[in-house]
Amino acid sequence: MHRRMYTVAQLIGGVWGAGGAGGELVVHDPADGRPVSTVPVATADEVGKAVEAARGVAPGWAATDPAERAAALHRAADAVQTAAQELAAAVTAEMGKPLADARGGVEAGVGTLRQYAELAPVRGGRTLLGGAGSIDFMAPQPRGVVAAITPWNDPVAVSCGLLGAALVTGNAVLYKPSERTPATGWLLARALDEVLPPGVLSLLTGGGEVGAALAGGDVDVVAHVGATATGRRIAAAAARTGAKALLENGGSDPLVVDAGVDPVWAAEQAALGAFANAGQICVAVERIYVHRDVAEDFVDALVRRAGALRVGPGRDPGTELGPLVDRRHRDHVHGQVTAAVAGGARLRAGGVLPDGPGAFYPATVVVDCRHEMTLVREETFGPVAPVVVVDSFSEALRCAADSPYGLAATVLTGSMSHAQRAWRELPVGTVKVNAVFGGAPGGAAQPRRGSGQGFGYGPELLDEFTATKAVHIEAPGGGHW
Ligand code: NAD
Repeated sequence: MHRRMYTVAQLIGGVWGAGGAGGELVVHDPADGRPVSTVPVATADEVGKAVEAARGVAPGWAATDPAERAAALHRAADAVQTAAQELAAAVTAEMGKPLADARGGVEAGVGTLRQYAELAPVRGGRTLLGGAGSIDFMAPQPRGVVAAITPWNDPVAVSCGLLGAALVTGNAVLYKPSERTPATGWLLARALDEVLPPGVLSLLTGGGEVGAALAGGDVDVVAHVGATATGRRIAAAAARTGAKALLENGGSDPLVVDAGVDPVWAAEQAALGAFANAGQICVAVERIYVHRDVAEDFVDALVRRAGALRVGPGRDPGTELGPLVDRRHRDHVHGQVTAAVAGGARLRAGGVLPDGPGAFYPATVVVDCRHEMTLVREETFGPVAPVVVVDSFSEALRCAADSPYGLAATVLTGSMSHAQRAWRELPVGTVKVNAVFGGAPGGAAQPRRGSGQGFGYGPELLDEFTATKAVHIEAPGGGHW
């Protein structure tokens, strides 16, 4: 099969191929280590120039009719749809995700662009009639220049959300995709740039230092989806400049398995939550608290499911478990598993580094875990299911709530009162009952604690990219109009 090599170019001030004096990065296919993409690295000076150029075009885009901006976003959705196959192939080549999942991520991105194209023009502000001769209204206005700094794990879906919402609300956007999926970001930026006025979107490539230069630059919003440690650095940088920081960061999502549930069904849910995308999903199941009554049957079924997954390169049809994004990340995952085993946990499936090329890691089930273990408390971001046995639903909820993160949680239960307790008591953005993934289109939540701040999805993301201005108008001389 022909394997494409991508040569990524930056887009600065409406000019493709600009900059790159910071050298070059090479991305390797995590399935076999072959080079996939060569990528220019932006210098701090180039970032500064891109920000300045974006400042120049921002007022014109902000003054464009909302209907016209929405029409551009509809065209953007069409362009991404046309490039869907190419985008999905790039995702799989750069980060290893099975091709069907990659395609799903592109479709999700297209859906988000269309949703924002429909929602943005019908938004407005409140109107108040505070006195007989006066009127007040609240008008949302674009914030100006937005830096969108994105991760690699679902690169098209995540980027389409931030870029679509920031652009349609009238902001100029500087896009910095992950250094692990830069060709994907480049293909996406090409599709969007075709249908937007020149300069409204810029693409800067490179690693964390390029993101840091952007986050510390003269921008109005820094929107970051990625790791918690990065989010904190960005929040500190934004505090120095006065920019708004919008952060969707890591998690350590619990799965609570209540007494009385079908253990085989619960294990299927756990396997889906822990092993999909090789566990590299922000809302992956990261830790499992299972009631003692069902624990044995649940673990047996989970181990069977882990052993049955079809492992292979993401480009092979039928692959269910592709490689991790790279060997550096595999070392992180394996390090957490090894430390848990050294601390008294036991491997029931996986947990052993495979021979051969690439960054593959097996679906892993670790039992006899304790709530205090790093494997349980921290984000692993790998295909690992650590199991903690508990004696009551209350104990499970207590452990689930005790976390430095607050992204999402799932509870599997047949009890309505337990479901009600779960959504009321868990200090997280999203609570799912009896399904590890899913949710109505347009649903959105605010993450808590180390998982970030602000709405990263849904109609509310449009509000994040605008600033509401209150306008109070009276007739001259205190009279009536
Ligand atoms: P990351 O934070 O390392 O990288 C994300 C982006 O930030 C990249 O573009 C990177 O270059 C940039 N960056 C790195 N250091 C920076 C700095 N100092 N200043 C500015 N930018 C910097 O995260 P990742 O490894 O790409 O992604 C995985 C993480 O993302 C996981 O923790 C996952 O949970 C999280 N994630 C969260 C959500 C969510 O919605 N909450 C969604 C997807 C992924």
